[in-house]
Parts: sequence; structure tokens; C-alpha cells
Amino acid sequence: MNPERLYYKDAYMREFTSRAISCEKDKKGYAVILENTAFYPEGGGQPCDMGTLNGIPVTYVGEKGEDVVHYTDSPIEPGTEVRGVIDWERRFDLMQQHSAEHIVSGMFHEKYGCNNVGFHIGKDMITLDLDKEITWEQVQEIEKKANEYVWADRECVTLYPSEEEREHIDYRSKKPLKGIVRLISFPDADICACCGTHVRRSGELGIIKMFSCQKFHQGVRIEMLCGGRAIEHINTQLEQNKAISNLLSAKIGETAKAVDRLLGENQSMKSTLIGYEREKLNSLAQKHKGESSVLIREEGLSPDSVRNLANMLMENGAEGLCSVFSGNDQEGYKYAVCQKDGNLKEFIKEMNAALNGRGGGKPFFAQGSVACKWADIENFFKEAGQ
Ligand SMILES: [Zn+2]
Repeated sequence: MNPERLYYKDAYMREFTSRAISCEKDKKGYAVILENTAFYPEGGGQPCDMGTLNGIPVTYVGEKGEDVVHYTDSPIEPGTEVRGVIDWERRFDLMQQHSAEHIVSGMFHEKYGCNNVGFHIGKDMITLDLDKEITWEQVQEIEKKANEYVWADRECVTLYPSEEEREHIDYRSKKPLKGIVRLISFPDADICACCGTHVRRSGELGIIKMFSCQKFHQGVRIEMLCGGRAIEHINTQLEQNKAISNLLSAKIGETAKAVDRLLGENQSMKSTLIGYEREKLNSLAQKHKGESSVLIREEGLSPDSVRNLANMLMENGAEGLCSVFSGNDQEGYKYAVCQKDGNLKEFIKEMNAALNGRGGGKPFFAQGSVACKWADIENFFKEAGQ
């Protein structure tokens, strides 16, 4: 790493002047290298900065060896003086998320001896992967501690210790490090080797909010947000809850209870409906008692009811085909066709072919659907001699 880069000297530098050293076209656009830069290149879990160079939008910033490469859609002549402007809203948000991740990881490490094995600042959410199982209660406890640390407004300190000094510092690092190592310290919370940009004081984080903790590989994945993003996400969830509260005329803190009540009512209505439907099926079956084969069209039956009615007709003693269709000409029909001790395989195959249908089952009982008009169904049965 190169501690001379402008974002290391001052992470709050929003504008700077430099000179273009080279500009070459490649697959990602024009790759511009400057004498020095305040643009942070993607790395260490932190996405790159956006902004402009002489008013030209920067679309991506990466690293090539020791160089920071800025990608633009138009060229910048080497030798030209360049005015760089950082998209500060984006950068400050990334600094907040990154610093919050350090504090939280340090606290988990200290309290539960677990390591941060994955960190991702996504578009909406940031995720933190720990290598041990952690409960939601433990996550909430760290959230409380982390926010107390935020409100204590502690200073963030950057250190460049020598190799010898490093032997006496207990810092977090994903791998053994050589050469210049930059340590980011939030005293009493965390000390970690890092190449990212951080806030000056913990108070700038405003709020750290945990949203979920789920089992992931050998440990857990935690979803969290900090600062403005946390407020935005909480607002979205609040709006959802408000809408549910209005729809159910329930107090905002009692929406789950109201939904639970609604589900209970729904379940009991379903049971009542099933009772009514059974009565209806019974009386329909009674009406056709004594007939040797039956073809029924009935609207609005569930697939279960279609099957039950066909069964009832068969058990009534009909010896021929018992066929039940439910649906309409626009959406098609569900069907159940059965015959006591019958073998309907060929008949169902022909019916599906003739009526644009699908389905099958046992030799004496078939179920499925057809996409055709009622008149076609009647014709098919008439022609089949049923
Ligand atoms: Zn870091």
C-alpha cells in the first residue's frame, strides 16, 4: 500500500488537483492514471469512489500494481491538469458502513472469540460473516454496546507500526502481513489491519442497526446498516407496518397480533366453507343416484372437491363413467373421471388428445385439466357413447 495517496492523508478530501500521467483505452473505457489521487480504488471490502475528473464522470476505480486507475468514458490528455471531485455522499456512506463493521467485528471478536471471515457492502445491505454460531440475543447485545461506543464519540486512530512494534500489538488481520501495514484503531473496541477509509470519530456513525442473523457455513451471516442507510431502511419497514396497521385498524405495536387474529378467522371460515361444500356435493351426488353414468359440470369447485364428487358418484353405485368438470370456457376445466373396476387409460388418453388436456392417474380414476369449451366436452362424451 502507498500511504502517500491523498485519501490516506485526508479521508475527507472531496476535491483535489493533480496531473494526468497516462490515458489508455481498454475494455472498461479510458484508463486514466494521475500523479496522485483522492479517489479510493475498490478493495478491502470497500467499493470504489465515484465522481468526476475535469467534469468527466468516473465509472470505476481500481488498482494496477502500485497505480490507481480511474475509468472514464472520454479521454484525458496526458500532461493535462486535472480537477478531481469525489461523490461525497457515496464516499461518506461507505466510510460509515466500513467503520461500523470494524467496531462491530472487534466487539464480536473480543466477546465471543469469533472472526470476521467475510464482509460485503451491498447496494442496500451490508453483510458480515462470522466463523462461530451467534444467537440473535448476542447480536442485540453487541448492537447495544456498539451504539454506546458511537455515542461516546471516540476518535479513530491510524497507525503505521514497524514490524517489531507490530509483534506487541494484538490486531485483527485476515492474513499475515509484511511491509508497511496500516492499522485502524477504534480504542477499546477494535484494532485491525485495513486499507479502507474511515470516519474521524465514532459519533459520525449516528446509529448502528442489526437486522438479521442467520446460520451461514460454520457460523452466521449478519445483516446490518449504519448512519443514513440504517434510518432509510427502518423508514421503509415502518411504512410497511403503518400500512398494515391502517388496513387492520390495529395499533402500530400490535400488528402481528392483528394478523394472527385474521389468520385464525380465515382458518375457521375455511372450515365452514368446506362443510358447506361437502353438503352441496352430497346433495348433487344424491340427485344422480341410480344413473349408470354421470357427466356433471359445476363451477368453482376446488380440485379436491372435483375428486370427492366423482368418488361419491362412483360409491352411489353408478356402473358407468362418473365424470366431473369444474371451470369455464375461458379458463378451461379441471376434471376427475372414474369407473368402478374400470380401466380408463385409453379413454383418458383420447380425451386429453381431443380436448387439449393433461392428466392421468390410476386405471379406474383419472384427474387433470382440459383447455376447451363445455360444448367440446359434451360432444366428446356423446361421441364416445357415454
Ligand atoms: Zn477495514
